[in-house]
Amino acid sequence: MEIERILLSQRDFFTTQQTKSLAFRKMYLEKLKNLIISNEKMLYEAINKDFGKSEFDTFTTELSFILNDINYYIKNLKSLSKPKKVSTNLVNQLGSSRIYADPLGCILVIGAWNYPYQLSLSPVIAAMAAGNCCILKPSEIAENTMKAMAFIINQNFPPEYLYVYEGGIEETTALLTLKFDKIFFTGSTKIGKIVYKAAAEHLTPVTLELGGKSPAIVTQNANLEMAAKRIVWGKFLNAGQTCVAPDYLLVEETIQEQFLEMLRKYIKEFKYEPDSEQYTRIINQRNFQRLVRLIDQEKIYSGGNFDEEKLYIEPTILNPINWNDEIMQEEIFGPLLPVISFQSYNAALNSILELEKPLAAYLFTNNSEEKEIFTRKLSFGGGCINDTVMHLSNDHLPFGGVGSSGTGNYHGKYGFETFSHQKSVLEKATWGEPNIKYPPYSEKKLSWIKKFL
Ligand code: NAD
Repeated sequence: MEIERILLSQRDFFTTQQTKSLAFRKMYLEKLKNLIISNEKMLYEAINKDFGKSEFDTFTTELSFILNDINYYIKNLKSLSKPKKVSTNLVNQLGSSRIYADPLGCILVIGAWNYPYQLSLSPVIAAMAAGNCCILKPSEIAENTMKAMAFIINQNFPPEYLYVYEGGIEETTALLTLKFDKIFFTGSTKIGKIVYKAAAEHLTPVTLELGGKSPAIVTQNANLEMAAKRIVWGKFLNAGQTCVAPDYLLVEETIQEQFLEMLRKYIKEFKYEPDSEQYTRIINQRNFQRLVRLIDQEKIYSGGNFDEEKLYIEPTILNPINWNDEIMQEEIFGPLLPVISFQSYNAALNSILELEKPLAAYLFTNNSEEKEIFTRKLSFGGGCINDTVMHLSNDHLPFGGVGSSGTGNYHGKYGFETFSHQKSVLEKATWGEPNIKYPPYSEKKLSWIKKFL
């Protein structure tokens, strides 16, 4: 298999030690940055062809992230890769202890289609910064963006260092039989399990960036106008095809009517219309059909229209929804917002606890006790108080899931650590060794050792 040959060449290349030099890493990070900038137009066109994403959205939610990542690593490469001196315990005196950020070797990155540039290239950039070779398998569902990345990278990078492998399920299945030093997967929980099992065969470590049902909770103590605006933006960005989008809304009964009115107002104000530039299309027919089936006509509060030819689904609020409605049984991943009201804040949180741990959670309130309970009680990958989605734009925060929403994390220094092994080295002086640890043992030695340890 051709890709096996490329992987073997990457293994050989990695053993030459070239990727470990900081100058090498910087050079190729700069190169990637320049290629992205000089091919910006082509990248916009490709994603627009795939699902009508606007230049504005592509820059703010994809390219700016990638460029920031590259700038961050170029700037911080030296400090991130510097061996860290740590203290040495008494029994290891006279000695010194260091932790080396050691590149893992050959990395496989499998990307998702919904933010195809960011979710494919951000992990690749972190892997490069940490000194690895890498094969990227973008999602074939966003075919044009996959081809654009392959075109840019495969023409400009040596395949023994970085290579984009175009392929679908069959190719990915074959790829997963090979031995990598790390697999970084972004996608659904279902496919995440397949990747995890395949990786186990080689004891390959994985980072799994998966999905789930992320709640947004609005209490009567929230700034309702701000909450409505931020929820509408986070939910309908990319037509709801965002892993950290609020999946469903829990709203306190006392403010439910007023709040739904505000949501409706902002949906109108943001002009998410069929021919609008700022509203993304549904990625394909299959997802379109799946989403349309989830619209319960009896429960449409606002929206509910769709156009199959344009793969357009209007931002839709469904109310009132129950926990056992079909839409609450799976991740929605589209522009449908089910609303469940609650009387007791604690009972609402308990209901979330009964579900799988979500990738994100959002709370809207100005009440400090409610904030405290939210952060202590719920387990979720990451989230915001009084905003949606924006936590992932702060690269000082690790980004990743927990439980069925994922394992491991990245962004900023966490990305660098994800693709490095923390190699511990204790260096001892060659003089002054007490004989106490060596046989033959005695009662006296033991009593000394007990004092020491
Ligand atoms: P997906 O799981 O269908 O596909 C992801 C990748 O897996 C693609 O590259 C695809 O080619 C590959 N793949 C698909 N079927 C496979 C199989 N049988 N064997 C091996 N590989 C296979 O996910 P998607 O539709 O691209 O993305 C949507 C999902 O991803 C949602 O659940 C969303 O929440 C999640 N997601 C998570 C994050 C995150 O950062 N945590 C980001 C984006 C999307």
